[in-house]
Amino acid sequence: MLTKEMTKVHNFSAGPGILPAEVLKQAAEACINFDNLNLSLLEISHRSKNYEKVMDDARALVKELLGLNDNYKVLFLGGGASLQFAMVPYNLLRTEGTAGYINTGVWASKAIKEAKIIGNTQVIASSEDKKFNYIPKGYEIPANLDYLHITSNNTIYGTQIKQFPKSPVPLVCDMSSDIFSRQVNGNDFALIYAGAQKNMGPAGATMVAVDETKLGKTGRKMLSMLDYQVHIKGDSMYNTPPVFPIYVSMLTMKWLKDNGGVAWIEKINQQKADTLYNEIDRNSLFVGTTAKEDRSNMNVTFVMPKPELEAEFDKLTKEANLSGLRGHRDVGGYRASLYNALPLESVNVLVEVMQAFEKKFA
Ligand SMILES: *Cc1c(COP(=O)(O)O)cnc(C)c1O
Repeated sequence: MLTKEMTKVHNFSAGPGILPAEVLKQAAEACINFDNLNLSLLEISHRSKNYEKVMDDARALVKELLGLNDNYKVLFLGGGASLQFAMVPYNLLRTEGTAGYINTGVWASKAIKEAKIIGNTQVIASSEDKKFNYIPKGYEIPANLDYLHITSNNTIYGTQIKQFPKSPVPLVCDMSSDIFSRQVNGNDFALIYAGAQKNMGPAGATMVAVDETKLGKTGRKMLSMLDYQVHIKGDSMYNTPPVFPIYVSMLTMKWLKDNGGVAWIEKINQQKADTLYNEIDRNSLFVGTTAKEDRSNMNVTFVMPKPELEAEFDKLTKEANLSGLRGHRDVGGYRASLYNALPLESVNVLVEVMQAFEKKFA
């Protein structure tokens, strides 16, 4: 049970990540009594009127928050963002065509690996030479590509594309860890996908928004469950969708919209990121791990020049109820994830702890 006495924990988890408290409360209620049906959301048909409204609202909210035109269809699928690494080339890469990829980290590399199995795949630019601590720029995009795949935010390394490439070919973007965190023109992309569990909802659902006019051109015989057109035709209910993660994602998007939408959260996210990066740059015991101009507003990565002090810092963060700050094993050090639902107050507490730590050990 949630009680008033529960200790406030500041949740910097990289994923699954923090969700708004009021969303969690509504979600918990729906598990017992959904829409006053005296039935749990978990035990009713996905084809019931009440659930169909959840699905319709979720899809409409995605279109609204991304500003998508009518030629876009929104799907909620299983299999995580990782299944999209395969479904994207399967649906967009012609048997005689070539796909282009920008390699900015582990997730992009995994997407490239799957695309290579499906067809001709070319890595157009990469930041692997510097352990993915920057975003490649100034590369030429061949006009013959079926699409160019980019990763807007690199969750592990803490880099983020600030300016999307002007592309002569359709852009496909993995927005798993920064979707709805800043204003983008969704219509600049042929396809956007995002696993829900970073910034949109709980694990188990993956959102795909696709320009329908780009589909059905591969020359490939398609397996039904991997075919976007089959899911579009079924209104994202070709098979039983992940009903609960979609419901909680819908509530989270509604929370965002009701509070002022992406323009509102973008300002707060900028404030949170500025607050933390300013402290990292000021504090003699910490140093950022990425190129400054490519710093992510969602995942802030930093290390200690004196790693022997890590245990002392861990003690202080634990005392202050700061959770989820351990860096990814590929980068080490620390990673503070500042997803939409994380309040500025939590960042302020982290900064106070960093300052107290410096006073004691510098
Ligand atoms: C977490 C993450 C993924 C993988 O998501 P799954 O849902 O676990 O498959 C892919 N891309 C990015 C950018 C991520 O942050």
